[in-house]
Amino acid sequence: MAKKKKLALHWKILIGMAIGIIYGLMASKSGWIDFTINYIKPFGTIFINLLKLIAMPLILFSLISGIGNLKDISKLSSMGLKTISFYLFTTVVAITIGLVLVNLIDPGASFPQEDQAKYTQMYSSQVEAKQESAAVLEDESPLQFLVDLVPSNIFGAAADNSNMLQIIFFSIFIGIAIVILPENKTKPVRDFFNSMNLVILKVIDLIMEFAPIGVFALLGTIIVDMKGDIDLFKALGLYAVTVVLGLLILIFGFYPILVKFFTKVKLSQFYKGIAPAQLLAFSTSSSAATLPVTMECCEKNLKISNQVSSFVLPIGATINMDGTSLYQAVAAVFIASAFGMDLDFGQQLTIVLTATMASIGSAAVPGAGIVMLVIVLTAIGVPSEGIALIFAVDRPLDMLRTTVNVTGDSTIASIIHRFESGKIEA
Ligand code: ASP
Repeated sequence: MAKKKKLALHWKILIGMAIGIIYGLMASKSGWIDFTINYIKPFGTIFINLLKLIAMPLILFSLISGIGNLKDISKLSSMGLKTISFYLFTTVVAITIGLVLVNLIDPGASFPQEDQAKYTQMYSSQVEAKQESAAVLEDESPLQFLVDLVPSNIFGAAADNSNMLQIIFFSIFIGIAIVILPENKTKPVRDFFNSMNLVILKVIDLIMEFAPIGVFALLGTIIVDMKGDIDLFKALGLYAVTVVLGLLILIFGFYPILVKFFTKVKLSQFYKGIAPAQLLAFSTSSSAATLPVTMECCEKNLKISNQVSSFVLPIGATINMDGTSLYQAVAAVFIASAFGMDLDFGQQLTIVLTATMASIGSAAVPGAGIVMLVIVLTAIGVPSEGIALIFAVDRPLDMLRTTVNVTGDSTIASIIHRFESGKIEA
């Protein structure tokens, strides 16, 4: 008997998303708020927890096995340099696209003045919370990011998912030591990490079986949460359109150019390959939670080597956020203009610098971008209370910018793979 063809994962996730949206709309209309919070939301939380659960072990085993299998450690520094350079380049391009669009469209000019007071009051408590989080970050030394890179205790680092860079640092260290030591001495260790890496990838496969239900619950709950915000949406329409337009230019213009120019992957193959990761990024608004799937998609579907994907993608998830940086640039100019302030060239240049740093510093979790926006606003002298103006549409934009963030990381991983293939002898 012919084997039944299984539905591709991205289709299953899409169906889950569609049912989630339909359910969310029905639930908001029929007032099933408590039911949704009590019986639907937990499945979304469980799904995100499962993804987060596997992220740390994945980075640890995958990176140690990836680097440990290198023949020569000098490959690592050249790969590192290229990765960081590409990440910085794409971030600056993203911010520039954002600035050009927001200056051309100028959504702040048409923002109704009477809405300003309304929004400021409506979101005052959220604004305070974000300002407090940003203040903690602002007080730190400029070199704090270097200090943060080096953990003083590996279990402490692994105990908190926001310490991803510390785990990367530790794994690179162990990987380098494995490469330096004579091969016959480290064989058991390498075998152990290689095989643990396979086990973790299998666990991700198993978690993904649950993905359609997870995304159904996540989207259903988000729609119920947003109930009533439709009017606010309208006033912010032009701002949202500007951000979305910028994000679309990145996804359908900029990244395809990079993929075409620097890799041999066909565009259709690229987008089909990373579709599950993109859909998950959209549903979870977290590039960190999506990381296990991004890595699996890149390795399995785009045939990117484990050495490259385990190095480039976790670093990308933490420091490369093109969607977030574009959004920060648009939001900063929008808020300034809604307050009646015109930003000069110097201030716009400051946006490029601070938004680059801010997107590097943003955690890969939902809503992190808006916290760092406070820092961008402060740097250009715009009152940070202004973030109240954009709160209403932040979640849907977060979903989109996270999708872009994950696409950007996968693009660079493909490029680095192309550069390194042939050079890496595993
Ligand atoms: N949610 C985004 C991410 O995880 C960060 C942000 O822009 O808020 O990539």
